[in-house]
Amino acid sequence: MAFELPKLPYELESLDPVIDKRTMEFHYGKHHQAYVNNLNNLIPGTKWENASLEDMIKGAEGGIFNNAAQVWNHTFYFFSFRSGGSTEPEGALAEAIKTGFGSFSEFKEQFSKAAATVFGSGWAWLSKDSAGKLLISQESNAGNPLRSGLTPILTCDVWEHAYYLVYQNRRPDYIKDFWNIINWEVVSARF
Ligand code: MN
Repeated sequence: MAFELPKLPYELESLDPVIDKRTMEFHYGKHHQAYVNNLNNLIPGTKWENASLEDMIKGAEGGIFNNAAQVWNHTFYFFSFRSGGSTEPEGALAEAIKTGFGSFSEFKEQFSKAAATVFGSGWAWLSKDSAGKLLISQESNAGNPLRSGLTPILTCDVWEHAYYLVYQNRRPDYIKDFWNIINWEVVSARF
């Protein structure tokens, strides 16, 4: 069964100026699509042929892991956004952020620092453990907290392809603006 690039719930220009249309055309239209195509080319004839992305993230190695995780990571990332500006964390997630980090602004500061200091290509993640405790982590390349038994809540892609056309070398500015496009209704429902 072939994987497909998911249709986004907003237009490619909706996240401008944080993520402009041209960045979306490359990041979603070319990079995300390439991970889907690569995975579809890699799995036939392997034991992963009928596996879910989650199973491949937890158990596969090499190219199958890398491409399965990048398909999942990018879908998760792109579905965390909304057109027309950010909302605020809601319900149980809002409470857990307060409990875990003291305040929403302290959480944003810690997550932003984690994203800014990923060395090279990778991702910053907010996840919860089996007890519902929130954790911020950094992953290199295609890394995903599912592999560590955690449940992802929010991610920031800090590969240069995520921000270079708008921000060039200014990764901290991209991270600062990233908060302005988060769809907290969707993100809060993941908690
Ligand atoms: Mn990316």
